[in-house]
Amino acid sequence: MAPCSATVPDKDTSGDNLYEPLVTQEFIDWAWPTYKFVKDHWTNGFGWEDVGNTDLPLARILNSAWLLTYSAEDYLNEDYNGNALHWARRYVREQVNQLWGACGDGSAIATTFGDRIELYSGCFYKKDVPGRAETLVHEARHRGGKPHNAKFPAGSTFGAGRKRGQAARAAAEARAGAGRRSPAGPRGTAA
Ligand SMILES: [Zn+2]
Repeated sequence: MAPCSATVPDKDTSGDNLYEPLVTQEFIDWAWPTYKFVKDHWTNGFGWEDVGNTDLPLARILNSAWLLTYSAEDYLNEDYNGNALHWARRYVREQVNQLWGACGDGSAIATTFGDRIELYSGCFYKKDVPGRAETLVHEARHRGGKPHNAKFPAGSTFGAGRKRGQAARAAAEARAGAGRRSPAGPRGTAA
């Protein structure tokens, strides 16, 4: 049974059924220290005792850690000059210092406090496998010192100077509720 009184959404849709078979014991043994999971915060129903159970938070985050780690065909190329499939895993690995799981109070998907990142029920159960990986990158960016009011350069998709077509498209997406395409995550749900 899922903790935090959460219901588990369809696991074909979320990608959990796709990724779970890829998460081997060997991967877990590597990912656990690499992404700095803190055991005390992944026990008591969060999955430490039942790590292959994708109803539980730990297995769901391991699925996203696998996606983050291996989505580039040449995943050993972690160059920051490449695209995010290459550097996102490196960035999270370099920034995360303590990774906690918790229920949260429902007001945020995740929060970064000082050197620790806390992932909450909304991350585990409202986001799909790539969405949870996105949360890891988002929170790692906070660890890297960036707040939400980052100044986007002129001509970029966000902020001043964006092209008229982009602005119209962004407005249409906002109306359609397609916030997921924002690198900052759906507005108002991530912290
Ligand atoms: Zn945030």
